[in-house]
Amino acid sequence: MRCSWGVPPIQYTSLKHIHEDRAVDLLVTDGIIDVLRGRLSFSPTRVHEVSEATIRHWDSFLSDIQGEVVYAVGGGLAVDAAKYVARKTDRPLVCIPTAISVDAFFTWASGHREDGCVRYLETKPPDVVVVDLELAGSGPLGIRSAGVTDVLSIATGRHDWKFAEGEGRNPESMHYDPSIDKMAVAILDACLACSDSAGLGEAEGLRRLLECLTLEVLLCNLVGHARPEEGSEHYFAYVAESVLGKGLPHGDLVGPGILIMAHLQGQDIAPLKKAMKACNVPLTNIPPNAIRTILQMLPDYCARHNLPYGIAHTLTDSQARSFDPGILE
Ligand SMILES: [Zn+2]
Repeated sequence: MRCSWGVPPIQYTSLKHIHEDRAVDLLVTDGIIDVLRGRLSFSPTRVHEVSEATIRHWDSFLSDIQGEVVYAVGGGLAVDAAKYVARKTDRPLVCIPTAISVDAFFTWASGHREDGCVRYLETKPPDVVVVDLELAGSGPLGIRSAGVTDVLSIATGRHDWKFAEGEGRNPESMHYDPSIDKMAVAILDACLACSDSAGLGEAEGLRRLLECLTLEVLLCNLVGHARPEEGSEHYFAYVAESVLGKGLPHGDLVGPGILIMAHLQGQDIAPLKKAMKACNVPLTNIPPNAIRTILQMLPDYCARHNLPYGIAHTLTDSQARSFDPGILE
């Protein structure tokens, strides 16, 4: 029997109005406790600081989890760890994004780093996602609406998916589906339309961006794979992470990946760039020489990790060397 995950319910409320009587284990990333000061309606029993996305690090929390419920407050790093910890300790999980920065708040897997690659381990989706739009809207400029990249990646992901079908490279379980593709394009269009407002930190735009992320995750859950949303732009981000070391946020890596891959796919990148600029996604944080190195490494990397087929698998050395940094400006 094949069973598909759903997406967590979303509660829009101020953190001041959360009713919580249970003993709480709170997982946060660096600096989040300061952000929460005076905002949270309850006192966590224990606070655990997440600093890296490795199973070893996450395992180190397990013996200290003694409360009745796990909370994750922050971005992707905190929620990926918390999904793992909640699953392993059989606790309910509440997730509070401090920025609309990634789709990890809604997914059932935890992205972790292993042998220079990002791997996804099935854990569990949060039982509820609590969204304080005022809090999310006051996050750092380059982060607060960076989740736009996990929706705009539909542009390159769907292109890869269709390209792979034409090349006869999609396995039985991932055949291109024109109806699903149309739904993905509708989500992409809604995201392009809300990017100005989301970038300004307005509640209306952030809420629509969040809805786009939820729909994108739900669509992938229903089809059983991530081809409508994830392709060469994410592969670019994974290699970038291994080349640059950890440090740059997901959007800083996926954003340039989208523009570079869309350009190589022959797409008009202007609307994508405009939306990312509106959302203050940093597009030039990866040095051009590093980008050339990443592009050179990509075909081997994709083959070695058996990634679903896309434009990244086909890159030539001369395409990598002739990369023009101007497309990111
Ligand atoms: Zn992503």
